[in-house]
Amino acid sequence: GQRVLIVGGVAGGMSAATRARRLAEDAEIVVFERGPHVSFANCGLPYFLGGEIADRNKLLVQTPERLKAVFNLDIRTHAEVVSIDPEHKEITVRDRTSNRVSTERYDALILSTGAAPVVPRVPGADRPGHFALRTLEDMDAIDGWIKERGATNGVVVGGGFIGLEVAEQLHRRGLRISVIERNPQVLKPFDPEMAAHLHIELRKHGVGLYLNNGLSRFDSPTAGERAGASVVVLANGTRLPADVVILGLGVRPEAKLARDAGLVIGPTGGVKVDAHLRTSAPDVYAVGDAIEVTHGVTGRPALIPLGGPANRQGRTAADNIFGVPSAYPGTLGTAIVRVFDRTAAVTGANEAQLKDAGMAFEAVHLHPNAHAGYYPGAAPLALKVLFDPVTGRLLGAQAVGADGIDKRIDVLATALRAGMTVDDVADLELCYAPPFGAAKDPVNLAGMAAQNVRAGLVHPIRWDEIASLDRTLALILDFRDRAEREAGAIPGSVHIPLGELRARLDELPRDAEIIAHCASGQRSYNACRILMQNGFRCRNLVGSFKTWKAAV
Ligand code: FAD
Repeated sequence: GQRVLIVGGVAGGMSAATRARRLAEDAEIVVFERGPHVSFANCGLPYFLGGEIADRNKLLVQTPERLKAVFNLDIRTHAEVVSIDPEHKEITVRDRTSNRVSTERYDALILSTGAAPVVPRVPGADRPGHFALRTLEDMDAIDGWIKERGATNGVVVGGGFIGLEVAEQLHRRGLRISVIERNPQVLKPFDPEMAAHLHIELRKHGVGLYLNNGLSRFDSPTAGERAGASVVVLANGTRLPADVVILGLGVRPEAKLARDAGLVIGPTGGVKVDAHLRTSAPDVYAVGDAIEVTHGVTGRPALIPLGGPANRQGRTAADNIFGVPSAYPGTLGTAIVRVFDRTAAVTGANEAQLKDAGMAFEAVHLHPNAHAGYYPGAAPLALKVLFDPVTGRLLGAQAVGADGIDKRIDVLATALRAGMTVDDVADLELCYAPPFGAAKDPVNLAGMAAQNVRAGLVHPIRWDEIASLDRTLALILDFRDRAEREAGAIPGSVHIPLGELRARLDELPRDAEIIAHCASGQRSYNACRILMQNGFRCRNLVGSFKTWKAAV
């Protein structure tokens, strides 16, 4: 049989190894992992820190013994692969316990070396009490430090997925938490008005959120300042004393091994692979966080370090080695995160990525209930769908809410992968009973709203166009009820409850454009239909007051 060597024994590497075994009982499969553990649940690490996962052993999904017994895998831990010789099809391995170096021959090699946390190059970065979270050892170190020091406050540097998960979990553990972020918003894959819902949620739970304000340096506490491990100094000079600092600045592909071996590295810094996950060297494959993928919507090279893609790529690489034709279709970036009582999920491209790629797009925003409004516990969600205005093809979707977020984004991710248009989405037949959804599911509604835009039945205006409107040429009309209006309104807007519109049409100017809004956009869409059929020029504020309020 073939001799298959795998570098990296976690998500992508172990998927490749077990798939390889299922395809080839006679293959020799050796997995080299430089750390002490293989197949551990890196995605679960934050939840141990917060105590939601109480049993550390649950994070060790597999042991080398079990992998040997069930899959006949030769697992070498503490084994660091230090070089690859693609010409002679050999790798060099250093045993980290004995320092012994050996060479190993391969017929096929799979690199699943993952990614390394970005370390900030600022003064004081090496002070004790600063941690990234990538491995079980990192998790143990954070846990130990918090216990030992009796840490009561922490600063998370960077508002990405892992940063927010750790912030939530350390807050759950009783720490006072601040999150600092260089960009004006957390979670870059989301558009700003969607991320804004999470800003509200973080602040509601007492998390100190410092946006537009990156890390400048770390100081030691000065006299009169709270004693702690470090003082996190922000770009604007704000000083945040911290007992523990979590670095959530994102990751870079672990591509050094590949680069040193002369393998082609893509413009993003990830190992370049083809659709079969082959690198530029014969019989060398690469998968997971280490590789550059093709974005499934924009077609551009991208780094999308996620567990799902890594696992599927591992399987694909093994398939290709053992003659099962298999191509990786690109990555959509489908991802989800819980932040306290809100869940946020995303798939496909966001506005920034579409603009970068020069792709035309249109957006709809909806705030429907997650299930029928008359059934107890109905809570609205914010759903945004991006689509091609010409072809109607779906380009991306984002949702934030209390529940039902995962299924909406998973349905839309499936639709996206299938190349569906907004017409297809409007017609999806989804399950419905009052506790679960609505006869027109939010996903259907998004498709229908997009159809209306494409058909010219309504003309959209975005929340970020409101501030710069020339108010001598445009009149903002609020179609909500009186009680809603009293709780807050767009400055300078005029109030006409929807039920009064037909009777009050002659109050409205015919020379100005009317910008219609309500709370979610549904009543103002009805208003726009009345206005347009009476000869008025009208645009509907996308996402209406809820989106505008969250974003502004
Ligand atoms: P990894 O799983 O990181 O495995 C790479 C392994 O290679 C490492 O164990 C490393 O020690 C080893 N290695 C590297 N170089 C060498 C070498 N030269 N020799 C030997 N061994 C080497 N993704 C999601 O989709 N959802 C989530 O909720 C989620 N949560 C996460 C939470 C945390 C805290 C972290 C850290 C990640 C999370 N991810 C999540 C991301 C997901 O874990 C990764 O995308 C996935 O593990 C990548 O798989 P991989 O095989 O490429 O790399």
